[in-house]
Amino acid sequence: MTTSPAQAPAPTDTPGGRPRVVIVGSGFGGLFAAQALKKAPVEVTLIGKTAQHLFQPLLYQVATGILSEGEIAPATREILRRQKNARVVLGEVTDIDVAGRTVTSEILGRQTVHPYDELIVAAGAGQSYFGNDHFAEFAPGMKSIDDALELRGRIFGAFELAEIAKDPAEVDRLLTFVVVGAGPTGVEMAGQIAELARRTLRRDFRNINPTGARIILLDAAPAVLPSFGEKLGDAARRQLNEIGVDVQLGAMVTGVDADGLEVKDSDGTVRRIQAATKIWAAGVQASGLGRILGEQTGADVDRAGRISVQPDLTLPGHPEIHVVGDMMALGKLPGVAQVAIQGGRYAAEAIERRATGKKPQEPFEYFDKGSMATISRFSAVADIWKFKFSGFIAWVLWLVVHLMYIVGFKSRVTTVLHWMVSFLGRGRSERVATQQQVYGRLALEQLGPRWEVSKTGGPKDVDPAGEDVTERDSA
Ligand SMILES: Cc1cc2nc3c(=O)[nH]c(=O)nc-3n(C[C@H](O)[C@H](O)[C@H](O)COP(=O)(O)OP(=O)(O)OC[C@H]3O[C@@H](n4cnc5c(N)ncnc54)[C@H](O)[C@@H]3O)c2cc1C
Repeated sequence: MTTSPAQAPAPTDTPGGRPRVVIVGSGFGGLFAAQALKKAPVEVTLIGKTAQHLFQPLLYQVATGILSEGEIAPATREILRRQKNARVVLGEVTDIDVAGRTVTSEILGRQTVHPYDELIVAAGAGQSYFGNDHFAEFAPGMKSIDDALELRGRIFGAFELAEIAKDPAEVDRLLTFVVVGAGPTGVEMAGQIAELARRTLRRDFRNINPTGARIILLDAAPAVLPSFGEKLGDAARRQLNEIGVDVQLGAMVTGVDADGLEVKDSDGTVRRIQAATKIWAAGVQASGLGRILGEQTGADVDRAGRISVQPDLTLPGHPEIHVVGDMMALGKLPGVAQVAIQGGRYAAEAIERRATGKKPQEPFEYFDKGSMATISRFSAVADIWKFKFSGFIAWVLWLVVHLMYIVGFKSRVTTVLHWMVSFLGRGRSERVATQQQVYGRLALEQLGPRWEVSKTGGPKDVDPAGEDVTERDSA
């Protein structure tokens, strides 16, 4: 199937009557679509819930004190400052009127209605607690800068509290860190906490021995990094064990509270782990905008909130609505950055062709560039085309690829410097954690239902069966 011609567009007040393209989301899909429209005869409005473009793959390095938040989240406005046909609007899109061709965004109670001729929706996915949103209070996810900074405060704070604790059981609880989910995010997070405890902090305390910290990586599935296959999954597990991570598989989390977790093993045994710091890296739920679009267009929305798109990434009967990235469902495409980037560029190309009277493109084809995940410094796994690497070579590949995709020269330079501090030396330059970061979530709870909707970084779970829609191969 190819991109069909748009129906008669609504009257436009742009210079020369150029089509108005509204893009929802400043993540990989939205930003790369906006940039790809640089030379197109259109007027682009990019609406983002945050003022930054977030490079999610390195969030765990913000949480563990390697990088600053600015390095992985440059201002969208700055990135697009030279693109004359693009403007950036800060606001959360709360409604899309498909018949009237408008998008409504809201910030601090102020609503703005944006008419469009072409719409690209790239609102991504938030964390899923599989219907247990109350876990979020005790086990933050890894979806936003807020999450990463809160986790940084909790991780470094746990060592501080352990230093002054008197009761040995309390010290053990404070020095136990549990990461839920053995996909790439969980593996990277567990590996970094282990390195932090064993390398960076080992001489910093007088009453406790940080190298004795217990780092547990839990997953209900029987394998680590299942999407990488058995060979790389086993290699990752071995490397994790070598740096002292206790990998527990077939272990399903059934409860989370301030003091620890309740876990049910595959043989039915229920046990408890006392742990002050819990991190949720287990599942995602696509943006609620998928359901809004599904109700109006009849497109299917799956249990994880992803909306089915046609082979040209548009919705049935609506060639002007393009959905890309983590919130689209097309075949078995995984929720990874490359799917979003390539989808965003494809949608932009379709729009440019239509605006310039060219014939539509062929259906969207994803080019899989491979997947990788780091375990610790100098050690990673990589699955690139048919080649499988583990150890140092994979780590160098990981380094180069991630550096390439960090947006902006300044961020690249400072990231390299911070990596040298942490990987060649033992330091971490970003150990600042404020009380506001740690307690902000609890304070926001006071806002009531409005906060309830977004506290997981995405829509409230409507279906307790939410699954890991990303099926992410890489990290
Ligand atoms: C911790 C972590 C590590 C990852 N590591 C890797 C990796 O190593 N390699 C890889 O390929 N993939 C990785 N991924 C997955 C990858 O980041 C996603 O697949 C990719 O970001 C999806 O792009 P997107 O544009 O669909 O969504 P996102 O990049 O999530 O962007 C969505 C954007 O929409 C905005 N938004 C959401 N709702 C609204 C709304 N209602 N109104 C306005 N704006 C809204 C958000 O603020 C955000 O800017 C990782 C994901 C996470 C969470």
